[in-house]
Amino acid sequence: KSMQLQEILFSQGFGTRRVCAGLIQQGLVTVDAAAVLEPSELFPPEGLHFTVQGKPWQYFEKAYLMLHKPAGYECSQKPSNYPSIYTLLPAPIRQRGGGAAAGVQAVGRLDQDTSGLLLLSDDGKFIHRMSSPKHHVPKVYEVLAKHAVDATQVDKLLSGVVLDDDPKPVRAAACEQTGERQLRLTLTEGKYHQVKRMIAAVGNRVEEVGGLHRSRIGELPLPSDLPQGQWRWLTAQDLVSIS
Ligand code: URA
Repeated sequence: KSMQLQEILFSQGFGTRRVCAGLIQQGLVTVDAAAVLEPSELFPPEGLHFTVQGKPWQYFEKAYLMLHKPAGYECSQKPSNYPSIYTLLPAPIRQRGGGAAAGVQAVGRLDQDTSGLLLLSDDGKFIHRMSSPKHHVPKVYEVLAKHAVDATQVDKLLSGVVLDDDPKPVRAAACEQTGERQLRLTLTEGKYHQVKRMIAAVGNRVEEVGGLHRSRIGELPLPSDLPQGQWRWLTAQDLVSIS
């Protein structure tokens, strides 16, 4: 089904319908390398490539992306002490869909001092499914502990530790020591501060600076060529690897 170019821009977060019509009339929007001056010109939207003020974009009905979260950012729209991760995304991605609940949302949260792979989307069903307690996609964390790690700690993390808000023990799906003070921990649930609390429960601590990094969700690793603070769209293949 075809859509008016101004509707396409509006749906992708480029401002109100009026603003989008204005961008088009000013010759600031191109399709196939040629400016389109008529806001109501029709295009099949799916996969459409266009530029706005020289920047290339692609139409996606729903947005799915990954962010390499740096430490020092909060996963909140209204952060209290640190900048918001949402400031790392371009305005259209923050404004997609318009209205009060506009833009993409993080799928779960990472602590302010945690870095690594974070998924974001504006597909409510996807966010809901990915954050459901029934969805046990493994998440892999690289931990740097304050004190040396020993085999007893690894064993306890694997056999289960009790956290203060639930008598039911939580266990790591996998845990391997990767250095004197380093662990690779795989969790299939996501309780509040779960890694830090599990490490504390075995008598160690997560190092305050650079202590926690999420390196993988399901079969999707954080790409080594995605620098901190950068994002990219998820491919169809990426979506399969996390479901
Ligand atoms: N566990 C934590 O303690 N913090 C995170 O950010 C993620 C998992």
